[in-house]
Amino acid sequence: HPITIDSLKEQLKKTFGFSQFRGEQEAIILNTVQGKNSFVLMPTGAGKSLCYQLPAIVMEGTAIVISPLIALMKNQVDQMLAFGINAQFLNSSLTRAEINRVKAEVISGAVKLLYIAPESLNKQENLNFLKQAKISFVAIDEAHCISEWGHDFRPEYRKIRTIIETIDEKMPIIALTATATPKVQIDIQKTLNLEDATVFKSSFNRKNLYYEIRSKKDIDKQLIRFIKSHNGKAGIIYCLSRKRVEEIAELLHVNSVKALPYHAGLEPQVRMANQEAFLNEEVDVMVATIAFGMGIDKPDVRFVIHYDAPKSLEGYYQETGRAGRDGLDGTCILFYTYDDILKLDKFNKDKAVTEKENAKILLSEMVYYTNIGVCRRKQLLHYFGEHMAENCGFCDNCMHPTPTFKAEEEVSLVLKA
Ligand code: ADP
Ligand code: MG
Repeated sequence: HPITIDSLKEQLKKTFGFSQFRGEQEAIILNTVQGKNSFVLMPTGAGKSLCYQLPAIVMEGTAIVISPLIALMKNQVDQMLAFGINAQFLNSSLTRAEINRVKAEVISGAVKLLYIAPESLNKQENLNFLKQAKISFVAIDEAHCISEWGHDFRPEYRKIRTIIETIDEKMPIIALTATATPKVQIDIQKTLNLEDATVFKSSFNRKNLYYEIRSKKDIDKQLIRFIKSHNGKAGIIYCLSRKRVEEIAELLHVNSVKALPYHAGLEPQVRMANQEAFLNEEVDVMVATIAFGMGIDKPDVRFVIHYDAPKSLEGYYQETGRAGRDGLDGTCILFYTYDDILKLDKFNKDKAVTEKENAKILLSEMVYYTNIGVCRRKQLLHYFGEHMAENCGFCDNCMHPTPTFKAEEEVSLVLKA
């Protein structure tokens, strides 16, 4: 039977328990159901997953969801299974027997959503299997991973379009990202060959997030004081290195804060367990490298602290975006020192020339942001190609203006270095 708006709404209520679509969700879902390609740019927490989960449920066959992280896939598969929807994943965490079971279930038509890592998609045996399956459409989540201008480039993402065409050229595609710098957007559309897609872009303003930059002087004292004044609240502290993550987790521990570390150097089981402990509220604070957080749906994160400066404004926006997904206030504090920028710049020294130049530009944009007295939200939105007429009134520069304008000087230092 035909899929109507009423039947979509009914499914929304029945499976997810929501009585209304948010923003453009309905239009996006209809676009996929009608077999058209979509490019969705919505900030973190806006509800992008539903834009492919719901059509996957109502359409015939299995939807392929390409997703960059095992943790992210597991998170969503668990959620869908809890809703009574058959979702599975294919990635390197599965045994041979598990892989065979998943494939058999897909071929039998029982699976509505199949999450696949791009590197698994590349394998010939998986391609052969997908050619036999009945696929409803392909969703490419975290599509910015395709762009070197994005904050999380994955080379395997570059091959996605060719692979999709090998499976079936006519499948509708929906690409989704919370990244919206015009540069990255163009890159994604070009690489995925999605110039014909309907573009759905919503505002990137996260009104409930308070942005503040602080000096790194006495950072540990400031940190403890802040966390103590948010006792029992969930928060994430981002650090640049694994070593620093361990140190800060320990610092919090001796100060009786329930915190755990997360970084790529930990055993996968430990990483998974720490993430679960944070999601299940057994601990309050996750001290992490940027390896943590993409796609993690924890609605009540009340603060995100950057212990060290991020590599780009993009990354910063994504990481801070993990606060306040429930719509309630979130505090985002970045501890800044120019030394961090120099350190980040040094990491790039062995890269190829263009890559190095790109990294410098991203860093200098970061320096401007931290140093200039202009409304932080205005600057962030400008970066995403959005114009804000008024100051936001909900950032440090709006609420407690301080005269620090070293930007020009520091930017020229980065670019020369
Ligand atoms: P994104 O991928 O855009 O960062 P998610 O898909 O993880 O966001 O969704 C964020 C939160 O919003 C989730 O908790 C999700 O259940 C919720 N959500 C999505 N759509 C709706 C809706 N129509 N009504 C209420 N809550 C929604
Ligand atoms: Mg998402």
